[in-house]
Amino acid sequence: SGRWARAMAILREFEENCGTPIGKLRQVADAMAVEMHAGLASEGGTYISILILAFHIAVVSKSPGQEENGLFYALDLGGTNFRVIRVLLGGKDGGVVKQEFEEVSIPPHLMTGSSDALFGFIATALANFVATESEGLHPSPGRQRELGFTFSFPVRQTSIASGNLIKWTKGFLIDDVVGQDVVGELTKAMERIGLDMRVSALVNDTIGTLAGGRYHNPDVIAAVILGTGTNAAYVERAQAIPKWHGLLPKSGEMVINMEWGNFRSSHLPLTEYDQDLDVESLNPGEQIFEKIISGMYLGEIVRRVLLKMAEEAAFFGDIVPPKLKIPFILRTPHMSAMHHDESSDLRVVGSKLKDILEIPHTSLKMRKAIVELCDIVATRGARLSAAGIVGIIKKLGRDTVKDGEKQKSVIAMDGGLYEHYSKFSTCMESTLKELLGEEVSDNIAVEQSNDGSGIGAALLAASHSQYL
Ligand code: ADP
Ligand code: MG
Repeated sequence: SGRWARAMAILREFEENCGTPIGKLRQVADAMAVEMHAGLASEGGTYISILILAFHIAVVSKSPGQEENGLFYALDLGGTNFRVIRVLLGGKDGGVVKQEFEEVSIPPHLMTGSSDALFGFIATALANFVATESEGLHPSPGRQRELGFTFSFPVRQTSIASGNLIKWTKGFLIDDVVGQDVVGELTKAMERIGLDMRVSALVNDTIGTLAGGRYHNPDVIAAVILGTGTNAAYVERAQAIPKWHGLLPKSGEMVINMEWGNFRSSHLPLTEYDQDLDVESLNPGEQIFEKIISGMYLGEIVRRVLLKMAEEAAFFGDIVPPKLKIPFILRTPHMSAMHHDESSDLRVVGSKLKDILEIPHTSLKMRKAIVELCDIVATRGARLSAAGIVGIIKKLGRDTVKDGEKQKSVIAMDGGLYEHYSKFSTCMESTLKELLGEEVSDNIAVEQSNDGSGIGAALLAASHSQYL
């Protein structure tokens, strides 16, 4: 019928505009490497931030050893959930003896409320977790509890344990925190409820993952997060950072937080749906790369295309399903469940449409089109993530094999999108191979880090302990 043809025309046009042929991906990778060079040379003039982490030498120098032992806490605030973690360090060769954690979801109203409300909630959850310390998991007598704070929003670090928030991302918007020291805000909130704890390290998830990754494997050169948002950090030769005029670390290496979520380039395949999503977001004009590849947004892009198909081609019948008009109602985990539906009648797709969008009846043909839509959105995100990683590998000159050299490069990867959306991660990894070629790919590994960001923060807290 005419309606079906119109709906398919919308889908095909979207597919066309999302195209990521290999040539385009190479342009994106090159553009990322160019941005990195520019960001290392001078302040400003780039979309990505290139934040030099001069205080995080422990990440690149020695791994924490036996002198760091005892009980340490970490707090991981990255998006919709936050985790409180406690680790016992100090096995025979240093290392993690025991770890415990709890995950708490952040009530949405706190994401756009006040600083006191957000940090008060976090401090209370932390205090409740501290109260569950069991036998053998207490700090040594007379010692204050110490915490590594993983705060995964752009921060200008002013010391190992302080830093000012540059801007919120990922659906947070709390004006009275912008420009403030987030450790100060947390510390005040802890004091208000009488929780005696010292924040000894402030990191973000990429740095935590990098620290945790290198602790286990010295070949780790970069960390990438694909979760609610996206970001990357890597280890750079100090000599390759013209804008750095401070002391040079003994190792000759420094840690760089790229804030690549804010990357953009004329080579990115952006569609009308992406433009609308951006304009209607809490941070218009910002985080364009993040808005086409990360978990917070993929499901929302699918919803926007479906809405257009409903409105302009009556895809779901004469009435546009009212729920389909609600922003962010279709989350990426729902999308992923539909995309992975292996049943012959696509019954998972049918039940998601029914449960979430209150669309009771859908034909198999419609369900197939929806799976295809999920595939288009996930494929674009996964292939662009791979291009970003290739940008880093190029910047480090590891995109070619020199004289048959077999130097390993490991990318530590973390985040719920990568971990749970297997069609996404599979596509990302095959695209990496496609871009790098077989010979180079053999020397490059992507390793899923198991809560590197939390453990890494605890390790950094330990290596900056006041008792060392
Ligand atoms: P954060 O990035 O907030 O620190 P995570 O790394 O745990 O947290 O990532 C959570 C994000 O991962 C969610 O916002 C969601 O987009 C994505 N995600 C979680 N589960 C799934 C899933 N089953 N399929 C696809 N994406 C998922
Ligand atoms: Mg996280």
